[in-house]
Amino acid sequence: MEKVIIVGSGCAGLTAAIYAARANLNPLVLEGRQPGGQLSTTTLVENFPGFPDGIDGPALIMNMHRQAEKFGARFSYAEVTDFDLSNKHVRIMADDEWLDTQALIIASGASARYLGLDDEEKLIGHGLTSCATCDGAFYKNVPVCVIGGGDSAAEEALFLTRFASKVYLIHRRDQMRASKIMQDRVFANEKIEPIWNTVVTKYIPDEKGEMRAVRLRNVKTNDERELEVACVFVAIGHDPNTKAYEGKLETDPDGYLIKRNLAESKHPGVFIAGDVADRVYRQAVTAAGSGCAAAIEAERYLAELEA
Ligand code: NAP
Repeated sequence: MEKVIIVGSGCAGLTAAIYAARANLNPLVLEGRQPGGQLSTTTLVENFPGFPDGIDGPALIMNMHRQAEKFGARFSYAEVTDFDLSNKHVRIMADDEWLDTQALIIASGASARYLGLDDEEKLIGHGLTSCATCDGAFYKNVPVCVIGGGDSAAEEALFLTRFASKVYLIHRRDQMRASKIMQDRVFANEKIEPIWNTVVTKYIPDEKGEMRAVRLRNVKTNDERELEVACVFVAIGHDPNTKAYEGKLETDPDGYLIKRNLAESKHPGVFIAGDVADRVYRQAVTAAGSGCAAAIEAERYLAELEA
């Protein structure tokens, strides 16, 4: 029987791990196949307090990982696929094995959303991606496009100007929702060309199955045209990773877990942190804060069990 299992190793999960480890709870962190969460695919993080010159997302995550490990957190790449509340304690299935725990902190984060067009699955990795940091450098001196109008789209577009000959920013409205500072940077960059009021309706691969172009539709005029791009970077938001908890924990209509206060679920012993329950703030620092709260709540819960 584990004392505390933490699902997820992004900013929320690792902060929970640091706090739980420093409380001598020897937490087990189930990282899954893509450890590090969204920060691990981000470039410079400029708004995490304490880093006036910014810090690379992967470096921030590595530091948190080391910090948690230093205090006794244990890590496993096991992937969580099921969850059971019918016993006195919580059970979680990780890589086909049931693990028992007195407290569970769910910090499984959110994953990049795609458009849902034909052949999407086949094209991912062949000119379709949601991670400029991971794939941008493969597209040197060729035109690419970014879809979306938020901070992620702005950040990806700016990053891609280091490599691509041209970066089209395709947005379904005529205004970005990105923060003012990011918008200013986008508009000041000559390599970025916004295409407003426009959606992508089709991916067009070449004969080898690599992205060659996209079909665009102007939502105001309904005009359609083709745009040659070697890669499409999708930055249209995220969906919460809650598949293992479907029908077992309360979610809102979009699948985000519902908390009772900062970190508690409706079920004793089950705590929630980070983007898996946050559709509003979704910042590294708010994820870290909620990870801290979840660990403190779990610690209090365990102390009451023992009292
Ligand atoms: P977001 O703010 O939700 O923006 C998603 C964008 O994609 C919106 O512009 C949205 O259009 C568009 N979109 C959504 N679904 C679409 C669809 N089916 N087809 C076409 N376009 C679609 O998501 P995000 O940019 O990933 O940012 C998430 C959070 O992280 C935000 O709070 C953001 O501030 C934060 N963040 C911050 C930074 C930074 O500070 N440097 C960097 C990255 C992310 P509409 O505008 O029309 O809704």
